[in-house]
Amino acid sequence: MDRQMLDEDLMPSRPKGATKRHIKNAHARAAELGALTPIEPAARRADGSPRIGRDQVYVTRTGEVFHPAWCSAVADKWDAQPDGLLIVMARDVGARRECRLCENPIGN
Ligand SMILES: [Zn+2]
Repeated sequence: MDRQMLDEDLMPSRPKGATKRHIKNAHARAAELGALTPIEPAARRADGSPRIGRDQVYVTRTGEVFHPAWCSAVADKWDAQPDGLLIVMARDVGARRECRLCENPIGN
């Protein structure tokens, strides 16, 4: 009767979720990656574009990456939808990955 019926409850549960990937819309994904707290950029260029300072990074509202530099993706975002380009503290990027384009930045 009592042959380890409670094993399921007593055992530490294994990490789940890796096998169940749900397709969600970009905003839901972004929320999952961690809330963003936009801050004022350290500086702005002559054209009004933000310029990050120490410990700041660029992100977009729905992107799954953060940008430690002014790469082509950031520049494109600024051109297409400047309101969607945010500055946050590097510690606030949540689960976002580092942008690979930022390895070859076109600015900073
Ligand atoms: Zn980038």
